[in-house]
Amino acid sequence: MRVLKIIEGTSVDGPGLRTSVYLAGCRHHCPGCHNPQSWDPQGGTEMSVDELMQVINYNEAPVTLSGGDPLQHPGVLELARRVHEGGYNLWCYTGHTWEEITSDPHLLEVVQLCDVVVEGRFVLAQRDTSLRFRGSKNQRIIDVRPTLATGDITLFDGQNNEIGTRFA
Ligand code: SF4
Repeated sequence: MRVLKIIEGTSVDGPGLRTSVYLAGCRHHCPGCHNPQSWDPQGGTEMSVDELMQVINYNEAPVTLSGGDPLQHPGVLELARRVHEGGYNLWCYTGHTWEEITSDPHLLEVVQLCDVVVEGRFVLAQRDTSLRFRGSKNQRIIDVRPTLATGDITLFDGQNNEIGTRFA
């Protein structure tokens, strides 16, 4: 897998101290993107899922997938599955909207392994640096389990729900 970087013990990509894995490649090309270098799917360095899991298991911390857009990464399903099976809380950032995700079986398969998804393109006109865990107001932080169970979007509530509802 092409990996841009791994940050261990970060607090900006979701609640708690997390292991954030940034996967290379993004086709959204949002105007004002903070990191256009992440768009190249051949960027970063090559790492196997086993190597990534070694880092994740070493830290024993909740995990965040970011990028780039991790949902556009060819190896993300296997990585998400391994993280989920390892019992880690899993957040995923993506430029795809929830509606796009749920209408695409391949995207949905990955997201079903996640606890929380931060979705939507970055929209420069809606940029707000005071927002927690997201860059622009259009982006939603979605608690995946209750949203899939009810069909109605449940936004992540950091007050009552520390890391998002866990899948069993
Ligand atoms: S989805 Fe994220 S990484 Fe991709 S272009 Fe938009 S802001 Fe940049």
